[in-house]
Amino acid sequence: MGTWFAVVAVILAVVIGFTIMLRRRIDVPKRQHRVEVYVKMPYRVSWPPGYADSRPIRQVKTPNGLYLMEAFGGRAAALEFLRGCEVRDERVYVIAENPESNLGKDLVMIFEEFDGAFVEIAERSVLPTPELSREDCARCGYAVIPAQSPGSSAITYGDGTVRWFASLDQMEMDGYGHQCQACGALACARCYRSVPQHPNAGGKLDLRCWLCDGRVDVFTG
Ligand SMILES: [Zn+2]
Ligand SMILES: [Zn+2]
Repeated sequence: MGTWFAVVAVILAVVIGFTIMLRRRIDVPKRQHRVEVYVKMPYRVSWPPGYADSRPIRQVKTPNGLYLMEAFGGRAAALEFLRGCEVRDERVYVIAENPESNLGKDLVMIFEEFDGAFVEIAERSVLPTPELSREDCARCGYAVIPAQSPGSSAITYGDGTVRWFASLDQMEMDGYGHQCQACGALACARCYRSVPQHPNAGGKLDLRCWLCDGRVDVFTG
C-alpha cells in the first residue's frame, strides 16, 4: 500500500507541476506582448442630443483602445443610439450592449461586437466651415488614418514612377484619406464618397482640396 501511495503522490506532483508550468508558459508571452495602443485624449465622441446628461457611460481601457459602453433593451434601440453617436478618433469604440447582439461603433462603421462584422457605414456630420489640420479631415473634422500599404502613394525609381491607386470604397472602410499637395489639408475618403465630385471631369475621379481646390494625393502620414 505504501508503494502505491508513493506512486500516486509522485504522479500527482508531476501533473500539478506540469499544469503550473503550462500556465506560466501561457501567461508569460501575453504579458510580454501587452503593448498599449495610443488613444488620443481627450477623445472626441459626441452623443445623441441630451444623452450624456442623463445617463452615465461605462469606460473600459484595454490594450486595444478605449471602450465606452452602455446597455439597451434591444438591438433596435442600440442601433438608433449608435447612429446618433459620432466617434471622431481611432481606437475609441462605443459599445451598445443589448440582449440580442451587442453592437459597436468606431471612426468608420457600426459593427457586430461579437466578430467585428460590418453593419453600416458611420455617417459624419460636417464642420460649420472647413478647417486646416494635419490630423483631421478639413470638411468633417474626423481623424484621417495614414495609409499603411504599400507605404507610399508614389514610388520613383530608375526609369519611372509607380503610382499606387487604392479604391475610394476601400479607403473609406480603412479610415484613410487624401492630402492636398498645395496647402497640406487632409480629406477623408468618406467625405469624397458622400459628395459628388467635379461633374465635368469626364467620368474620372477629380478629387480636390476642400480648402484651396488644390489636387490631392493619398495621405500616408
Ligand atoms: Zn471628412
Ligand atoms: Zn489645399
